[in-house]
Amino acid sequence: MNRISLPTASPCIKEPSLSEIPQAIMWKTVSEQCNLACKYCYYSHCQGQLRGGVQRIAPDLLQKVIREMMSAARGNATFLWQGGEPLLAGLPFFEQVVSFQAQYARPHTLIHNAIQTNGTLITRRWAAFFKRYAFVVGVSLDGPQHIHDVQRITSSGAGTYSAVMKGVHTLRAEGVDPNILMVLHEDNIQRQEELFDWMDRESFRHVQFIPCMSFTSQQSTTDASYAISAEQYGQFLCRAFDWWYREGRPVSSIRMFEDWLQQMLGLESSSCIHASSCPRVLVLDHLGNAYPCDFFIQPSFKLGNASDQTLAELNQAAAWEFFRQAKSDLPLSCKQCKYVHYCRGGCPRNRPMSDSSAGIGCDYFCKSYRMLYAYAEDRIRLLAQQILSSKD
Ligand code: SF4
Ligand code: SF4
Repeated sequence: MNRISLPTASPCIKEPSLSEIPQAIMWKTVSEQCNLACKYCYYSHCQGQLRGGVQRIAPDLLQKVIREMMSAARGNATFLWQGGEPLLAGLPFFEQVVSFQAQYARPHTLIHNAIQTNGTLITRRWAAFFKRYAFVVGVSLDGPQHIHDVQRITSSGAGTYSAVMKGVHTLRAEGVDPNILMVLHEDNIQRQEELFDWMDRESFRHVQFIPCMSFTSQQSTTDASYAISAEQYGQFLCRAFDWWYREGRPVSSIRMFEDWLQQMLGLESSSCIHASSCPRVLVLDHLGNAYPCDFFIQPSFKLGNASDQTLAELNQAAAWEFFRQAKSDLPLSCKQCKYVHYCRGGCPRNRPMSDSSAGIGCDYFCKSYRMLYAYAEDRIRLLAQQILSSKD
């Protein structure tokens, strides 16, 4: 991850204990506001219509949270900027962000900023800013134009591919290589060769796949439905693994496979889905309402509000422990699964929610994960062995 190092001194503050420190702040920067109307969005309801102006995080709240986060951080401070469309907050907002981060950083703190954008609002000034402050920039793209433009559209139904690619080229002109976030749905899941040819052609080297789920974060306790079957996703992952592996010499970064490789090397998966527990990432909306996960933004999971509570208080909210318990309450089939040390039971949001009479159910994509593990375990193990032996 990109970072900047800030050797400036900060005021003397009581040492917080580890339990007082969220691992990261994920800020829904303008909450649901977005300039696009993507058909499958799981969060925004605004359909690309910005009524009543942009709802930014208030400066006082921004300053309070960054001050607390920086004073609690030990070595690293991570901020994830999401939306809606976070660039709607405007460049002056983000200039204030980095200014507060620098102002309150303790000595030798590495500050990580990552932003997820639809890419349509990127200008040279934005790109230069991201370069200067080493932001990791994720851009959402679902494939080449005839695929992307089906679901990622404006409020008038127009495709957005050209605008996004213009943003990608602007980033690259300033030396920022974006991560591509690709949602897998009914319009691209079976067009694997087209997707991989396109990724090669456009030299996309950092890609993350997200299977499309039909639910909203604000309705976290109803069963999700899915745009693709577990079998389709499994077939896609196997084919993607072949594309990534390239006879043992990967040249690109596919997050799921790199996470698996990390696990083979004895490390934790960076993706929460295959990590041993849900991370303590504090999700805040623009008013400071705090939640434990991007998929669980509804009142019953609310941890409190960052305007009138400290990060330490939010971090210790009882609702968070209740939430985190769900991941470790594995169904029997996971406990008996030979791949559980890779999969870790997947994501609780993908388990059946409504009927608990039959006990805890498996992640909807269980079959996908099993297909991948069975198909590629020998090769990922070989890669790990090569890495380990190259260090001897
Ligand atoms: S692959 Fe399926 S059974 Fe195995 S741990 Fe994952 S979700 Fe559970
Ligand atoms: S519930 Fe799922 S998405 Fe949320 S933190 Fe846990 S594993 Fe990640």
